This record gives sequence, C-alpha cells and structure tokens, in this order.
Amino acid sequence: ASAAIGVTGLGVMGRNLARNFARNGYTVAVHNRSAGRTHALVEEFGHEGAFVPAESPAEFVAALERPRRLMIMVQAGAATDAVIGEFAPLLDAGDMIIDAGNAHYADTRRREAALRERGLHFVGTGVSGGEEGALHGPSIMVGGSAESYAVLGPMFEKVSAQVDGEPCAAYIGSDGAGHFVKMVHNGIEYADMQLIAEAYDLLRQVAGYTPGEIADVFRRWNEGRLGSYLVEITAEVLAHVDAETGAPFVDVVVDAAGQKGTGRWTVQTALDLASPVTAIAQATFARAASGQSELRAAYAGLPGGTRPKLSRTEAERFASQVEHALYASKVIAYDQGWKMIQDAAAEYGWKIDLGTVARIWRGGCIIRASFLDRIRAAYAADRDLVSLLGEMEFAMEITDAQVPWRETVSSAARRGVPVPAFSAALAHYDTLRAGRLPAALLQGQRDYFGAHTYGRTDRPGAFHTHWAAPGRPETTA
Ligand code: NDP
Repeated sequence: ASAAIGVTGLGVMGRNLARNFARNGYTVAVHNRSAGRTHALVEEFGHEGAFVPAESPAEFVAALERPRRLMIMVQAGAATDAVIGEFAPLLDAGDMIIDAGNAHYADTRRREAALRERGLHFVGTGVSGGEEGALHGPSIMVGGSAESYAVLGPMFEKVSAQVDGEPCAAYIGSDGAGHFVKMVHNGIEYADMQLIAEAYDLLRQVAGYTPGEIADVFRRWNEGRLGSYLVEITAEVLAHVDAETGAPFVDVVVDAAGQKGTGRWTVQTALDLASPVTAIAQATFARAASGQSELRAAYAGLPGGTRPKLSRTEAERFASQVEHALYASKVIAYDQGWKMIQDAAAEYGWKIDLGTVARIWRGGCIIRASFLDRIRAAYAADRDLVSLLGEMEFAMEITDAQVPWRETVSSAARRGVPVPAFSAALAHYDTLRAGRLPAALLQGQRDYFGAHTYGRTDRPGAFHTHWAAPGRPETTA
C-alpha cells in the first residue's frame, strides 16, 4: 500500500481532482466502475505524478495507506449510495470515505451516522470550481469529524486554491455541514447571477445601452467594489459577438435558464429552517419562470410600463444608480446566505466559523470576489455578528445606496422591467428595518378564523378574542 489517497469515479471532476493530488506530490490510487477511464487517465496524464491504477475495488483498497483515505466522485444520490455500499465492507475502523460530489446535506447526515456506527469516518465535502477548479485549485468545504480533518486537512489545503498565501479549504463542521455550506454557496451564486442579469436588463431597456456598451460598464464596475469573477465573465459574455450572424451573442441565446438543482435545494431547505432567503428564492424562481414558455406566451403582449428615451447624461446617471442598487442587493443576498448558515448551525449543532466560510470562497469557486475579504473581516471582528449590516462599513454603504437603490427599483416598476431579485432584496431590507410589521394583523386574522391565539405588546401570555362577541374580554390560552 503506497497511495496517500484514492479517487473512485474518474469523470470530469474525479479525474481532475486525482491529477491535482498527484501534481501536488501525493501518490493517488485511481479507480472507475468501467476500467477504460482509469487506463485513459494514466496513459494521458501518468507523467504528471504517481498514480496507482486499480481495476477492482479490492485492488483499489489494497493500494491505500492506512488509515485509508478514499474519495468518491460520482453523481449524488443513488450512485453515491451504491459506491459507498461497495467499498464500506472492504474498509477497517478508522478509515475515511470522502464524498466530494454534490450530495444533499441530509443524505450526508444519514450516511455519516450509518458509517460512524461501523467505525468509519464519512467526510462529506463540498467542492466548488467546476472542472478547472478541480485541477488547478478548488474551494473545499469539509464536513465530518474533526479527527478526520486532522489527517485530511493538510492534503485539502495543499490542493485547494490559494489566496494571499491562505488555502481556500477548511473544516466547516460535523456530518453534513460541508455539503450544507456548499449548497448555500450555490444559492448565493444563483442570486448574484440574477442580480447581475437584472442590472444588464435595466442598462439595456432603460438606459438604452448596447450589449457592447454594457460590457464596458461591467468592466468598469469590476475595477471597484463589485470586482468579482461573475462580473468579469459577464463583461466577456456581453462583449462576445456570434460568429455566424454577427449579432451580439446574448441576442442569439434562447432566454430560458437551466438549473441542476442546488439552488432549489437551498430554497427548499430555507423554507424548512424558516430562513428568509428571498433574493436566492427569487433568483431560483426567475430561472423557473424563464422556462415556462406557455405561460410566457399567455402573458405576452399585456401592457407594461412606459419607456421614455433617456439622454446620454440621464443614461449615465441611471447606470450609476444601478451600480448602487446592484451592490446593496448583493450585500443583502449574501447576508441572507450567511444567516441561513447560522440558522442551520443552530438547528444541527454545527459550530461554523462564518469568517472562515468567507475566506475559503475568495478563490476557486464561482462567487470568488474581493468583497469576501470584507465579509471575512466583519466576522473576524465579531464572531457572533447576526447580520453584515451590523458592521459599520456595510451599514454606511447601504445608507449611501438608499436613494439610488429605491430609484432603480421604482424606475424598473414604472417601465415594466422585471427585477425580482432587486425588489426582493429591497423588500427584505425594509421588512427587517421596520419598527413594526403588519404581522400583527396576520395574527389577528389567524386568531379570528382559527383561534390560533396572539401575544400582546403590553403583557406576556397567549390570548384569544371571542370574535363572535367582540365585546367579551379576551381569554388567556
Ligand atoms: P461525470 O458524469 O463526468 O462522471 C460521473 C462518474 O461517476 C463516472 O466516473 C461514472 O463512472 C461514475 N458513476 C456514475 N454512477 C455510478 C455508479 N452507480 N457506480 C459507480 N460509478 C458510477 O460527473 P462529474 O465528474 O461532473 O460529477 C461528479 C460529482 O461531482 C457529482 O456529484 C457532481 O454533482 C459533482 N460536481 C460537479 C461539478 C462540475 O462542474 N461538473 C462541480 C462540483 C461538483 P462510469 O465512467 O463507469 O460511467
């Protein structure tokens, strides 16, 4: 046995992660259900490092140093269960199974509990960064036991992306915490992408800019506080011209967005946790709505707002308002994601360091951005920060953004340009800052039709009003 780690499942991600470990000096055992991929990897990339190809599960397990570290990189769900079922019986107490696929955190919790009973460490690990990240350095969010991280941590930290000399890999918390945080990363990614798309739509429909001009606006924004991988690639996509037609690329693409499901998981889970991730939810629903072709046809042609043409100066002024709106909405969307992690940590007993989450998303993953340094600093200054808006600089920026943010959302409404994520972010902000909410009226309604009771502002207890005879004194439940 000579391999420091083994990777089974040599598809797009598994193959590149195996190469990444080998390029970093680790001996890597490689295995795939169908041996063709195993041999192809060694033939093509064998010169990059030390690989031990294995045809059978027994051969694969025998190649691993103890405690064995076996990484599974197959489709989430049934395939992952099948592979665990195949390998777990071949392992001994203290060995580690790392699931680096995009598993649902609830599955990870279930698998961890079952394997713990057999003395095995199950390490649910979120890996972000796609194919390129897997090869050159992903962001790695590790769950499972602290004991297993003591062994695996140095390896993950070596192969992960590095930013300012720090690794984008860290221990997140027990059982499903790593996969949970990866899921929320993807939810935030949905929100960030949708907000950028709405900003583009406004610049096009309201300011009247061409895609090429909007690419320049995003390039400029990318130099400032919005600087991020997503803004950078947005500029490139918008500047791209379709070779066949000579039209802007964005105009030849069908406007129905796909999704693989992690955004949906975030929203479903948020409902269970009663965590109001409204910008993430709107972003997910916006993708769903874009694909509802029949429904869109039924609404098509209905009246929208008015669209007066803006002068060049007015357009420039509008674009700078949109920058404020985009930034403020982004802060809210990220704040929603971080709060959701806090809510889950309370529910599942995870001790998650929120600053560390920001640190390991600065590189390797899709939402990497300079902005994350600030989030990290905010949580470093106060580990128990409930909201980013509790930090002074963020609060000041949101204060500065007030007028342009509201102007942007109201212009969009007047002109009939859909901005579901911008609107949700602003409504979230207004909901939480309001001194008093109409939830009081909801409580009255609920008590009226269902005797659900309500609390009173002037004394403790649960009360019910006799609605059929409102003059009678309320009763205490
Ligand atoms: P691929 O489709 O490229 O590869 C899938 C691999 O899983 C193949 O090696 C396949 O083996 C193996 N496999 C599938 N079913 C079984 C089974 N029942 N038993 C044994 N092996 C099986 O997938 P990816 O590499 O893209 O994705 C792998 C995981 O990584 C997924 O969980 C995905 O969500 C996650 N992920 C993907 C990212 C991406 O950008 N692609 C980013 C981050 C995570 P065979 O060759 O025999 O078919």
